[in-house]
Amino acid sequence: KSNEYADFLEAHALMAKFYRHLLLNTNEGNEALHYLHERGFTDEDIDRFQIGWSLPQNEFSLNVLQKRGFDPARMEEAGLLLKKEETGRYYDRFRGRIMFPIHDERGNVVGFSGRGLENVQPKYLNSPETALFHKSSLLYNFHVAKTAIKRQKQFILFEGFADVIAAVRAGFDQSVAVMGTSLTEEHVRLLKKIANEAIICYDGDNAGLNAAYKAADMLDKNGISVNVTMLPDGLDPDEFIKRNGHESFAAYVKDASLTLMAFKMEYFKRGKNLREDSQKFRYIEDVLVEIAGLKKAVERDHYLRRLADEFSLSLQALQEQEKALFLKKR
Ligand code: ATP
Ligand code: MN
Ligand code: MN
Ligand code: MN
Repeated sequence: KSNEYADFLEAHALMAKFYRHLLLNTNEGNEALHYLHERGFTDEDIDRFQIGWSLPQNEFSLNVLQKRGFDPARMEEAGLLLKKEETGRYYDRFRGRIMFPIHDERGNVVGFSGRGLENVQPKYLNSPETALFHKSSLLYNFHVAKTAIKRQKQFILFEGFADVIAAVRAGFDQSVAVMGTSLTEEHVRLLKKIANEAIICYDGDNAGLNAAYKAADMLDKNGISVNVTMLPDGLDPDEFIKRNGHESFAAYVKDASLTLMAFKMEYFKRGKNLREDSQKFRYIEDVLVEIAGLKKAVERDHYLRRLADEFSLSLQALQEQEKALFLKKR
């Protein structure tokens, strides 16, 4: 397949090199470079992740690609160019964006995600689905992280590119991110082959918590043991590291990450006032349903005790109610 699409790969490799050059060695790249440094990206990060800058011009990539003999129609298919329907002219998809190359498992650049400076919409512009670029099976940084993942049998899953880059800077080589999508069964299949343990480290905002809940459940159902890191104050990992430093982040990931059940208990608490009886009972019911779903009796017992302690309830009452739910589930 890659033979049939050799020109896609060559074009992406070429453009990645150009974008890097523009970022690092030209005046046109200064603002973007300044932005990256300001955000805490180091020169080593920029080098390691081959970050670049696409000029805010319509025909820069077009000209580079044409000069090297690439067919514009193919390059449209490859996701690098767009076509104006009225005129039939080709022009650059990525203009004035910080360019993050996206690699396949073997390390070929198969797409880009371009971040606008400051408040441009959309914030990230991705390559479209192409013959080689499939968001539902690609993971950012997987081609590098897989070595560490295999060694540690563990991966850390993030939502964003900046989060992966900051985590690798903090020493977590086993870091990967989804590409602005939910975690899919294809992602899980890929990860399951080389790891049996996951740490989910999504953004601490509502969207991140909801996505973490879904991803955690999916990994758990696939037999991967899951911990979830809940970052405070709605921060995302990149922001957390910038504010609190590497050590603090490492402590969060290693020591303060929650078991799946403990995470769910926190998750169900959101938006509830547990001093009100009706909401408290709702919460307890939510948690009991989850406890009833646990396979191991020891685990069910452990969390029932925790619940009993937390709300000064009789363990027996909780056990009875859990048992009823447990039987209903079978
Ligand atoms: P940054 O730190 O650069 O602001 P982020 O990673 O914190 O970015 P989020 O808004 O938390 O951005 O989104 C998480 C991820 O979702 C991004 O890294 C990107 O992959 C994806 N994403 C965000 N906005 C868009 C968008 N408008 N289109 C496509 N993907 C997006
Ligand atoms: Mn977010
Ligand atoms: Mn984020
Ligand atoms: Mn961020």
